[in-house]
Amino acid sequence: MAFTRATGKHRRPTRMHRTTTRAAGIAALATTGVVGSLAAPALAADTSSAEQTGLTPVISIGDTIADKIDAQADAQKQAAEEAALKKAAAEAAREKAAAKAKAEREAKERAAREAERKRLNTFVAPIANSYVSTGYQASSSLWSSGSHTGIDFHAASGTTVHAVGSGTVVETGWGGAYGNQIVIRMHDGTYTQYGHLSSIGVSVGQTVTPGQQIGLSGATGNTTGPHLHFEARTTPEYGSDIDPVAYLRAHGVNV
Ligand SMILES: [Zn+2]
Repeated sequence: MAFTRATGKHRRPTRMHRTTTRAAGIAALATTGVVGSLAAPALAADTSSAEQTGLTPVISIGDTIADKIDAQADAQKQAAEEAALKKAAAEAAREKAAAKAKAEREAKERAAREAERKRLNTFVAPIANSYVSTGYQASSSLWSSGSHTGIDFHAASGTTVHAVGSGTVVETGWGGAYGNQIVIRMHDGTYTQYGHLSSIGVSVGQTVTPGQQIGLSGATGNTTGPHLHFEARTTPEYGSDIDPVAYLRAHGVNV
């Protein structure tokens, strides 16, 4: 008979199929007379006719639930897909933000390194806002050589003396006619010397950066008054002096 069509074992029955099966079941019950009062067997066997009988509500309820289950499954599937998409989008956004932060951090670090490199290669005057009161190679009976081996910067006693550039302190202490002095080996291999200091603020082996305070000006040694005696040299020793004004100007210092 048409209504005894078998259901697929591993396949969810389609709505129409389920309807037919359900109708067939009821029809079978009706045939045995158990629910004979519900509908006549002839009507039950014909599913299209069943639409017109008391079976209709039963079948309709079954369909509504199936529809609801289908819709619910669809909604759940869609919600899961949407959640997965949302999660992936959030992860992508997080990764993008992290990459951006990393790039910004690296750019900042690069800029900081560049600024530091620039700063370390900068030269400054040993006394701020001062001027050269006695020039290079000026003659005076004050100096044993008879000629000035450096330049004098006007400075009251106790004025901050700066390292003119990056370097390493190679000598500190009493320098005879120079009084208290500091000699620094600069990064470029030249030397700078600072004399007549009232105070020495660095020690041998210490590295210094441009503008760093290394001591205070004074009038120690052979001098008529307080000032800073500054020399540029090719070696740490007396007698290897070079023109300090040209030296400072060559390093970008306005003197
Ligand atoms: Zn001098």
